[in-house]
Order: sequence, then structure tokens, then C-alpha cells
Amino acid sequence: MKFTPYWLDTAPQGPDRSRTDIGGRVDVAIIGAGLTGLSAALHLARQGADVHVFEKDTVGFGASGRNGGMATTGMSIGFRSAVSRYGFDTAKAYLMAYHDAVDTLETLVKEENIDCDFARTGKLNLASKPAHFDGLRKTHEIMSGRLGLETRLVPRSELPAEVGSDCYHGAMVESRSAGLHVGKFTKGLAEAAARTGVTIHEKAPVEKIDRLGGTKHKLVTPRGTIEADQVLVATSGYTSRPFRWHQVRIAPVGSFIIVTEPLGQDVCDMLLPNRRMASTSLNLLNYFRITPDHRLLFGGRARFAGSNQQSDAKSGRILHKAMTEVFPQLSKTRVDYCWGGLVDMSMDRMVHAGEQDGLFYSLGYSGHGVQMATHMGRQMAEHMNGTVAANPWSDLPFKRIPGHFGPPWFLPFAGGFYKFMDVIK
Ligand SMILES: Cc1cc2nc3c(=O)[nH]c(=O)nc-3n(C[C@H](O)[C@H](O)[C@H](O)COP(=O)(O)OP(=O)(O)OC[C@H]3O[C@@H](n4cnc5c(N)ncnc54)[C@H](O)[C@@H]3O)c2cc1C
Repeated sequence: MKFTPYWLDTAPQGPDRSRTDIGGRVDVAIIGAGLTGLSAALHLARQGADVHVFEKDTVGFGASGRNGGMATTGMSIGFRSAVSRYGFDTAKAYLMAYHDAVDTLETLVKEENIDCDFARTGKLNLASKPAHFDGLRKTHEIMSGRLGLETRLVPRSELPAEVGSDCYHGAMVESRSAGLHVGKFTKGLAEAAARTGVTIHEKAPVEKIDRLGGTKHKLVTPRGTIEADQVLVATSGYTSRPFRWHQVRIAPVGSFIIVTEPLGQDVCDMLLPNRRMASTSLNLLNYFRITPDHRLLFGGRARFAGSNQQSDAKSGRILHKAMTEVFPQLSKTRVDYCWGGLVDMSMDRMVHAGEQDGLFYSLGYSGHGVQMATHMGRQMAEHMNGTVAANPWSDLPFKRIPGHFGPPWFLPFAGGFYKFMDVIK
């Protein structure tokens, strides 16, 4: 079994960018070579800016190379919770930002000719408890009735046409969501940015940042120092000390994934005949999909813990048990990949973007960032060029997580809370 993300293992390797020259003055410096940073870099360079991206590790090392490859149209808190928090019109605007985000991703794939198996497969929201199907029914009524979106309810009796498992009590299908090979997409985005004139520096952690005035900053890396007129922080769950204001507003929560050996088309036709992106309705949910080469990818927040090889392996065993409960037919199937990554949870599980003390940022995708990080890269490029209204999240206050000073000591307590809620609700 490999402890590397399947997506990065099966994507073309880009050139080595760890020996680039760092120095002088640039228009824009971007911290983080994930989907936010790369998309922002590409869009800013298209507008003629001299853009440099600084990445602590390598392109796609963070969540962008480690996720489920699901570009779905829903927000982390769910539409009905958004309505009760923000009112119908604002919740609708937030939801539609996710629809726009999947469109942005698809447009980039086409414009830059990125070979990444993008397909509008649709999403399957599975009810883990009978009462959860009532919740899906209410969501469907609002989505298809009041919003005119393409959703469909699937009663338990019709579930075999969608999923080869007896575990669920019905589902809702949403048809605009997409799946993609996110390793090929992230690497392809980096190449598109480089073609457009962006310089990407790998193995270049920004260890110190000093404000020179306005939005101008000096960035210090072990490979050199650079001055930039504008800086975008795009570090998601990997945000560290130099960006303390942002760090204490983000909880880096581990999420884990296993990928089986290739199963062949026939077996995959039994598991997920329509190849949809599937997720369950629990707080500690599981998500699964078929990869382009016919493996099952099965993920979840197996434990509230960080990600390292030991932790990933432990989570992998929990996920394997969960996978074989959902699909007993896979009890003898080999697992080829197991990995973990950090999800950037904000206090309100909403995206937060804007400018603070002269630094631009976009963070807090809370597990729904494949599409939104890509979209926010584009929107932040507009925002940084003076179109402040391009940021759909500008009205949301970005609150500090109480008691969060750096290391996320509180995660096991949060995990216990969510497990308890799954038992009682
Ligand atoms: C296991 C897992 C499954 C997920 N599944 C899905 C999914 O199916 N669908 C979905 O929509 N979302 C999913 N997500 C969330 C999604 O992957 C993220 O929201 C998105 O990739 C965030 O992109 P980003 O560019 O903002 O951050 P990242 O991709 O995390 O990139 C941040 C980068 O910043 C770098 N960095 C940090 N500090 C510094 C520094 N000081 N100097 C230089 N570089 C630095 C890091 O090394 C990292 O590469 C998942 C996340 C995980 C972890």
C-alpha cells in the first residue's frame, strides 16, 4: 500500500521548480501552490501582472492534491442551515456561488486544455438514517421548487439504480456536480500558469513577512528575499506562524482517504452505476466515488487528528472497515493507497476572503474547496485589481476560533461532539 495520494501518484510530474532564483521586486506574490494560489496566479498573469508563487513543498502538496476530486454544488453547512442563518436571498447567493465555481473550473479545463477527466456526473446525497431522508425531501422541495435547480429524490426502493449498498434510506441526486482527476487538474493549472508567465518557486517556504506600507510586503524564504506590491495568502489548512492572524481563524482538521485496487468496469457498474460523487448525511460523513481507472475512492473524517503516516494508516483501517460495511462485496479487495490531508475549517464553516492589514487572503473552504478554491483564485484576481465586489464572501466576519493559539489541541473534543450528534440525531 502506498501512503501517497493516488492523484499525485498518477498525474504527470511537472518540472523541478526548487532551484529557481528568488530576489528583486514583483507585482504579486502568492503563498501556496494549491488551487487558490495557482488559479489566482493564472488569472492575474492573464491581466499582465508579474506573479510569483511560493510553495513550501511542491505543487499540489496541500489539500489540492489530496482531496476526493469532487467538484460539487453544495456548501459545507447545507442550504437549509444557510437559510436559517442568513435568510433566503443571501443563502441563495452563496449557493449560486458554488454553481458558478463548478462553471469556473469547467471553463478553465476547456480554455487551458487540461486533460483531467472532468465530467458532470452529478452528486448522490445518501440518507444514513430514515429521518435524514425527510431532510433530503425538504431540501429537494426548496431546490427544485423555489430555486429551479435540477434535483431528484430517490426512494429506498429505487436506490439499487444508484448505489450497490443496502445501508441507505433514500437519496437526493443533484445533477450539476462534477468529478475530476484533481492531480492532473492541479498540475495542469500550474503548467497553464507557467505558460502565461507565472514563476512558481517550490521548496520555498515563506518564513517571515514584513509590511512595507499599504499592500507592499517583503517576504523572506530560505532561498532568498523578495518584495511584492500585493500578496495573496492561499495556504488553507496548512497556514502557519508567519500568517498568525489567519492561522488562529482556521482549524486544520484531518480528513483521510483510501483507494482500492482497480476493480474493473463491471464491479464499478454495481457499486455506482452512474459514477456519481456520493456522500452520506452524518456529521462525520463518508464520501466515495469511482476513479477514472475504475477503483473505489472512499474517504471521511475517520478520526479527529492531524495527518502523518502513522495517523493516516490508523485512519485507513477505520475507513476500510466503513467501506466494507457499505460494500460487503469488497471485503477481500486490496487497498492500494491511503493518505490524509488537512481541511481548513473556519468557525462558521464558510469561506472567508478579503484584505487584512494589507494582505489579501482566501481561506476556510471547510471541505468544499475543489471548485471554490479554483473560483476564488479567479475572483481574488479581480478583487486585487480593484473590483472588490468580485468577492462573494465580503460580508462575512472572519472570527477567531476561541482558544486557538497555533497547535489545534481542541480537535479530539470537536470529534467527540460530532460523534455524539450522529448518535442522537
Ligand atoms: C482529504 C481531503 C478531501 C477533500 N475532498 C474534497 C472534495 O472531494 N471536494 C471538495 O470540494 N473539497 C475537498 N477537500 C477540500 C479541498 O481540497 C480544499 O478546500 C482545496 O484544495 C484548498 O485549496 P487551496 O489552494 O486553498 O489550499 P491547499 O491546496 O491546501 O494549498 C495550500 C498550500 O500552501 C502551502 N503553504 C502553507 N504555508 C506556506 C508558507 N508559509 N510558504 C509557502 N507555502 C505554504 C502548503 O504547502 C500548500 O501546498 C478535501 C480536503 C481534504 C484534505
